[in-house]
Amino acid sequence: MNHVLRQPINEIKGVGAKFEEHLNELGLYTIEDLLFYFPFRYDSYETKPLTELAQDEKATIEGQVASEPVLSFFGRKKSRLTFTLQVEQFAVKVVMFNRAFAKKQLNAGDTVTVTGKWDQRRLQITASQFKKGEAKSQEPIQPVYTLKEGVTLNRLRKVIKAALDEHADEIPELLPDEMKLSYKLPERPRALVQMHYPESRVLLKHAKRRFIYEEFLLFQLKMQLLRKHHRESTTGNAQDYDNDRLTEFVQSMPFELTGAQKRSLTEILKDMKQPHRMNRLLQGDVGSGKTAVAAIALYASITGGKQGSLMVPTEILAEQHYQSLSTMFDGRATVALLTGSIKGKKRKEILAAVENGEVDILIGTHALIQDEVLFQDLGFVIVDEQHRFGVQQRRALRDKGLHPDVLFMTATPIPRTLAITAFGDMDVSVIDEMPAGRKPVETYWVKGEMTNRVLSFIQKEVQAGHQAYVICPLIEESDKLDIQNAVDLYHQLASVFEPDVPVGLMHGRLHNDEKEEVMQQFAENKTKVLVSTTVVEVGVNVPNATVMVIYDAERFGLSQLHQLRGRVGRGDDQAYCILLADPKGDVGKERMRIMTETTDGFELSEQDLKLRGPGDFFGKKQSGMPEFKVGDMVHDYRALETARKDAAEIIMDNSLETEPYKALKQEVYKDKSLLGDVLD
Ligand code: ADP
Ligand code: MG
Repeated sequence: MNHVLRQPINEIKGVGAKFEEHLNELGLYTIEDLLFYFPFRYDSYETKPLTELAQDEKATIEGQVASEPVLSFFGRKKSRLTFTLQVEQFAVKVVMFNRAFAKKQLNAGDTVTVTGKWDQRRLQITASQFKKGEAKSQEPIQPVYTLKEGVTLNRLRKVIKAALDEHADEIPELLPDEMKLSYKLPERPRALVQMHYPESRVLLKHAKRRFIYEEFLLFQLKMQLLRKHHRESTTGNAQDYDNDRLTEFVQSMPFELTGAQKRSLTEILKDMKQPHRMNRLLQGDVGSGKTAVAAIALYASITGGKQGSLMVPTEILAEQHYQSLSTMFDGRATVALLTGSIKGKKRKEILAAVENGEVDILIGTHALIQDEVLFQDLGFVIVDEQHRFGVQQRRALRDKGLHPDVLFMTATPIPRTLAITAFGDMDVSVIDEMPAGRKPVETYWVKGEMTNRVLSFIQKEVQAGHQAYVICPLIEESDKLDIQNAVDLYHQLASVFEPDVPVGLMHGRLHNDEKEEVMQQFAENKTKVLVSTTVVEVGVNVPNATVMVIYDAERFGLSQLHQLRGRVGRGDDQAYCILLADPKGDVGKERMRIMTETTDGFELSEQDLKLRGPGDFFGKKQSGMPEFKVGDMVHDYRALETARKDAAEIIMDNSLETEPYKALKQEVYKDKSLLGDVLD
């Protein structure tokens, strides 16, 4: 239908081979690419009276050139042009760098409009742009694009203009009339023109609204098609668990499941029974009882004659899960542990037992996804702290079974806004209720100068029979220096506390058996204070520890602080988290304030998202977060929610197959990379 738009850019008048090459380097190949290459910002050329301008504000002013411009050179090819501009009753000094050519164009008496950084104190503007003529003769809103060598703003705007002029009629409308009407969205071609050549703030806003919604809707449609595909494909396995044995197991547990646990479990079990492959995320705060739910689900799978597997990010965590699941399953199932440090004969034995089906549940680190690991009949896979594994690793484990059901778990409560985008193709179960009787961890923020009082507080808690974690300062991006920090802090604390209070040291460079030894000492209450890097962040469970002290807390993100805090408050006694921090900026102070005010992980993660933005939320590369061109997941989350609901409805009603949705369907199925699975 719109094949014209798929033609290469050089079909546009005035685009030669060289320019085309430069455009290609910006990722622009077709006319369509060009038309949808949106500005990342818009500058305003509306003038304000000088008296209303703030120091360092980016401003546009208009006046008469009152002195001949003076040009001076410095360095190689660098120049400075200065002149006086009469603005209202003020003589303003204009400074422009590397605009030597402007000297010829500017003469005393000319009216010019300049834009730049305003210096109130010196009545001076450092101009980045100038135009001859009055401000009102300029376009009031200037789009700003990402440019590169060979692609200047003027040239780019010219080709976009040419493309719009030549092809505006061929730009397809994707949204059905009904939808545009009810959301008051402008027509696609008109909106497109406004994106590049905005006539007013209002029209631009409507155009953006339209494209944000369109972008979100397309994304959600793709995600939900994928999900539907998973659900309907019969290639999964319908797990036939034994209800009586399962009930017996649940009743053997020392506690009653919370309502949220029961609800999540029901959702998981229902998925398992279905022939489709389960693809579900279980999220809940630290200590909310995810592991308990996971154990029950694993057991269900085993009663149905399958094997189960649990992959966790660290050896310490694997070890702990191994211990606790072995105890829980006592006599009901055979549990084995596989990590990188299990070697030689022992490893061979475990691998053989997994392959011949003697092992029911295999727990381990990413050692589980190596080729040598073969299951007899893997039916159920759980991936803990799923965001710590890359997409490939998660897939590799899944591929070890014949379409096993997969449950991802995360203790990072994921803000709704992120969950519905990042995990749009997953089903989500949420444990949003803590087991009864938990006391929230009391959290305090203190300045570095109070360190001595914090140390005496630790001493007091230890005398009362408890234990403490001390997390050492974090040095960005440097494992090595962080460890040096931990070692230094360890010596410092040891000199204060020992011999009465034994201190342990934990960091990522210790050998695995050393780590185990250190954890063991702490778990057995032999060391009272554990100095550590963030390796204790996930999962570690020592209920007798009641104090968590975090040095330089301002260097940690909110979610990470929350994870660290989750190491305490796991027993019956009141626990404390002390943040030692002297944050310089407002964001740092805000973080400390939020930490002291809430222990609700979901609330916290929403705040963290606002402070950091989605890109940083999970850490960069692994996040797998989609990138949107116009929409912003945080800022535009309402549009995102609306798009999600609409997409669900469209898929449910099979509307994509109807005439008004034809163009939308075509656009959805254009994305081969995402929908590969569905298309084959
Ligand atoms: P998570 O994996 O979400 O961090 P766990 O499953 O490890 O949480 O549970 C944390 C602690 O709470 C464990 O000691 C566990 O035995 C206990 N627990 C789990 N569910 C309940 C419950 N419903 N009632 C009381 N204690 C529970
Ligand atoms: Mg856990």
